[in-house]
Amino acid sequence: MMQRQKSYDNDRPTLYLVATPIGNLNEFSPRAINILKEVSLIACEDTRTSRTLLDHFGITAKTVSYHNFNESESSEGLLKILNAGTDVALISDAGYPLISDPGYKITDQAIAEGYNVVTISGPNAALNALVASGLSTVHYLYYGFLSEKNSAARKELDHLKMFPYTMIFYESPHRIKNTLKNVYDIFGDRKACLARELTKKHEEYIRGRLSEMQDLDSLKGEIVLIVEGYKEDDIVIDYISVKESIDAYISEGYSSKDAIKKVAKELGISKNEIYREYHK
Ligand code: SAM
Repeated sequence: MMQRQKSYDNDRPTLYLVATPIGNLNEFSPRAINILKEVSLIACEDTRTSRTLLDHFGITAKTVSYHNFNESESSEGLLKILNAGTDVALISDAGYPLISDPGYKITDQAIAEGYNVVTISGPNAALNALVASGLSTVHYLYYGFLSEKNSAARKELDHLKMFPYTMIFYESPHRIKNTLKNVYDIFGDRKACLARELTKKHEEYIRGRLSEMQDLDSLKGEIVLIVEGYKEDDIVIDYISVKESIDAYISEGYSSKDAIKKVAKELGISKNEIYREYHK
């Protein structure tokens, strides 16, 4: 059923979704701090991490934990508190709650039960990275994290390879090298940007082509990867048809080495790359 919420023109309790800094504490907005001072309960992804931040700003409200593994029971608890007529805030460890972070369930349920749900703006790693990436911002896709399993991540990238708009991925430092390789293998040599440690002392942007990013060292800290979307003239290698072409030459009597060489020449890509894929 359609609902209209005039956020500041009713006396229903409110669930505030409050963005917190992604590094630089000066980015915590006065409005966010005031709201967190006014509510009597703050649901946090990790209460210990958030307590440090809250203490720094003199926010004394009680905290409860709300994370991926207790979403159902915590949501029930939070709904009871809203039901008692009290406003509640939800924060995550950094940036916006719900953006690659917990909070969807309580938001969905609070809306279904007719409470106000209001966002308090603040920093977000994806948007910070996107706007300074140098890549098109007209249309973009926020993808978040690819699957942790390599084969599943490659499949996801395969589905995205013809997507025509800029794509934003979150990544952890121990998987970024492998992800850069997968993205290069599957998308081809597109423009990309790595945005590291945003808003912090060691912030770094690495802008260039995916081929140039394959041997990067010391990609530590928090990282966003932005990749250019598909363009009509991109060479996207369809390895299934590459395999079929090689097999067809072999059945015509070519050695596998010569068949690979021929297909590589036809496609204008390195025979080593085709050799690697063919023998996978
Ligand atoms: N909710 C957050 C937001 O709104 O951006 C995202 C949380 S998600 C669990 C954590 C990921 O966000 C990191 O692995 C990294 O990809 C990205 N991230 C968070 N803070 C960042 C920063 N300061 N610099 C670069 N990337 C960051």
